Amino acid sequence: MTSKVINFSKYSSIKIGQEVEVSILESCSDYSDKYYLLGSCNNTLIGKNPPPLMILSKKYDYIKIEDNLLKIGGATPSGKIASFCKKHNIANFEFLSHLPGTLGGLVFMNAGLKEFEIFNNLISISTCKGIRIKENIDYGYRFTNIDTPILEATFTIEYGFRKDKVVIFKKMRANQPSTPSAGSCFKNPIDDYAGRLIEAVGLKGKRVGEMEFSKVHANFLVNHGNGTFKDAIYLIEKAQKRVYESFGIKLECELIILGKSA
Ligand SMILES: Cc1cc2nc3c(=O)[nH]c(=O)nc-3n(C[C@H](O)[C@H](O)[C@H](O)COP(=O)(O)OP(=O)(O)OC[C@H]3O[C@@H](n4cnc5c(N)ncnc54)[C@H](O)[C@@H]3O)c2cc1C
Repeated sequence: MTSKVINFSKYSSIKIGQEVEVSILESCSDYSDKYYLLGSCNNTLIGKNPPPLMILSKKYDYIKIEDNLLKIGGATPSGKIASFCKKHNIANFEFLSHLPGTLGGLVFMNAGLKEFEIFNNLISISTCKGIRIKENIDYGYRFTNIDTPILEATFTIEYGFRKDKVVIFKKMRANQPSTPSAGSCFKNPIDDYAGRLIEAVGLKGKRVGEMEFSKVHANFLVNHGNGTFKDAIYLIEKAQKRVYESFGIKLECELIILGKSA
C-alpha cells in the first residue's frame, strides 16, 4: 500500500496539525477499520496522535454522465462538481460552488446549505461494503450512518443550472469569516442557532492564543495564524459548558476532532 506525508497545518481548512504519514486507498483491500478515512479536511480538526489516517487515491477523482445519471468519485472536489454541473446545465448542485469538500466527505456529512443537501438527488453510493441505496441509509441534518469508505455516488439529473442560485449562495457566505476555519463548529440545536447561543453566553469574539469564536459569525472557530489544537479544544469545551449552564442545551460538535492535545 502506498502512503504520503501530509502537513495538516497546510492541508486542513483550519490550518492546524502536523506532518502525518497518510495511507492511500487504491482499492478496498487496503482498508480496515483501524484507519480513519479523510477527504479534504474541511470539517476536521487534527491533534497529536490521531488514529492511522487514510485518503482515497486520485483514481476516485472523476465525474461523468452515464445512462442519464451523474456518477461522481469519492475524491472529487466540490468545486469540480459545481463546474461540471454548470458546463452540462445540471441543476441542484449550485450550492457546492461555495461549500468546500470532496464527494465522500460531502455525502458522509450530508453537507448542505439551507434546504439544499447532497442527499436530495442521491440514488445510491458504492462503498467498500457494496452498493447502498439511499432508502437504506439513515441520514439527517449533517448526519449519516455510513460506516465504510464511499468510493462513488450516483445522482439523478435534472437539467437547468441556476446562476442566480450561485449568486445567492455567495451572498450567504458574506456573513461568514474568510479567516481559516472548519466551517460551523457546532450543529444548530433544534429550533435554535449555535451562533446565537455562543453570543448569548458572551463568547462571540472570545480569543485564546490565535483561536477565536469569530466576531463575524460566532459559530465559526477561526485560526488567526498559529492557532493550536489545545486552544481550539479549550474554546469548544468552554462554549459547551457555558451554553449548558445557561440554557440546558448540549452543543454537539459539527467539526470532527481526531487526536489529543499532547
Ligand atoms: C469555510 C467553510 C464553510 C463551510 N460551510 C459548510 C456549509 O455551509 N454546509 C456544510 O454542510 N458544511 C460546511 N462546511 C464543512 C465542510 O465543507 C463539509 O463538511 C464537507 O462535506 C467536508 O468534506 P471533506 O472532504 O473536507 O471532509 P473531511 O473533513 O475530510 O471529513 C469529514 C468526514 O467525512 C468522512 N469522509 C470523508 N471522505 C469520506 C469517504 N470517501 N467515505 C466515507 N467517509 C468519508 C470523514 O471520515 C469525516 O468523518 C464548511 C467548511 C468550511 C471550511
